[in-house]
Amino acid sequence: MNNFEHAHNQYLEPPDDDPVCEDGCGDTLERDLNGDWLCSNKFCPLKFSGVEKEMAEALVEFMDSSHTYKQRYEYAKLQINSLKEQIEELKWIIQENNK
Ligand SMILES: [Zn+2]
Repeated sequence: MNNFEHAHNQYLEPPDDDPVCEDGCGDTLERDLNGDWLCSNKFCPLKFSGVEKEMAEALVEFMDSSHTYKQRYEYAKLQINSLKEQIEELKWIIQENNK
């Protein structure tokens, strides 16, 4: 399939999502100049062997947990803001009742 056919097919059937590096780092793949899918993560475990591969796999796990903790942190910030708003509302209600 040449680039034009490829682009035309993509136009007719847009892909849901770009594929991810399933056996490696889990990052989203990118197309190279030939249109083939390629993992551009230079620390992808698929690009290493032996102890270097183990280190790359440990890095993937670390990045995953780091992402999870960031999401939890963002969620906690939202909850804190919501609680602050509730406290302000309660303060207002108390003030109104003490008038
Ligand atoms: Zn990868």
